[in-house]
Amino acid sequence: MLEIKHTLCPSCSVGCGINVILENNAVVGTFPYKRHPVNAGKNCANGRNSIGNFVNKINEASISQANVDLDKAFAEVSKEINANDKVTVFLSGNNSLADAEAIKSFSEEKNLDLVFYADDLRNFEDVASYDDVEDASCVLVIGDVLYENPLIGRRIVHAKQNGAKIFSNIKAEKSVTANISDETTSGSVQEFLDTYKDNLDDSSVVVFNTVDCEDDLDKIEELGFKILPVYSKTNTKGILSIADSNSKEEIIEALNDTKVLLIFNDDVVDDFDFDFKSISKVISFSAFKNNTTEISDIVIPIKSWLEYEGSVVNAMGETQTFVPVMESDVLSVEEVIEKIKG
Ligand code: SF4
Repeated sequence: MLEIKHTLCPSCSVGCGINVILENNAVVGTFPYKRHPVNAGKNCANGRNSIGNFVNKINEASISQANVDLDKAFAEVSKEINANDKVTVFLSGNNSLADAEAIKSFSEEKNLDLVFYADDLRNFEDVASYDDVEDASCVLVIGDVLYENPLIGRRIVHAKQNGAKIFSNIKAEKSVTANISDETTSGSVQEFLDTYKDNLDDSSVVVFNTVDCEDDLDKIEELGFKILPVYSKTNTKGILSIADSNSKEEIIEALNDTKVLLIFNDDVVDDFDFDFKSISKVISFSAFKNNTTEISDIVIPIKSWLEYEGSVVNAMGETQTFVPVMESDVLSVEEVIEKIKG
């Protein structure tokens, strides 16, 4: 029997609604949810492709790539945590608020090093809404937002249709955002802001999903106009209010000193210029096979985004909740943490 269930897209921080089509508890497609306030039925390719992961679903624990009983895997993880003094926990923006709280408490209780990467951005208390972007007289865009976060990009296109000026700073040679911009620069963010700040007024918005360095964030804030940082992971903004973030350099420094690495719900190996195989034990808690689980010594299955209940905070600061749309016997992150506490 076909069923259509409403949930949130797990593929970036915009917070679009998405409908998934289920047949006999298996995901077979997506379907527009026209009334969703963020995206009004539109989903980008990344959002629609998010269900593609389900062919790589992990249902069994493994040690050295061989399936093992779940309790044996939990015992092995507990043993590794207790036997080593250099244990690092990788917190991800893919985790819900409750999961992030549980991971943080567990790390504190066990005195483990917690790292969290937030795209080298930070938390800003006051951010623009998506409607502000659409209503802006001028939008400064840093990063290829139209390509990477298309449902914010759609609001920038609407702003342009409403008569707004669009200026962008993009490092890549080709970009979708440049195609709709009045002018595009490829120099530093600081130079870009200096060049175009005089075009801004009270209704203008600076939208960005990347910067060159931390000083750029200070400068963007100091301008005093509306800002909208857009993160690559669904709940990065929410977790920024729970945990401190680290730069890539800080994380690599921590990894250099790590004997046991616990990764909760992320595929980090391609994001960092680091040889993860140099770590004695890499332990992944993941719903899906990915490049990180491929190199992991221990893999523990966790519920996928369609199998549990939680809440996240989207880029414009709205808390959004989601509920399970598929039946599942797999444990949640919170349940897994209870098991490995030992
Ligand atoms: S813009 Fe982001 S949240 Fe929206 S559909 Fe695309 S990936 Fe999903």
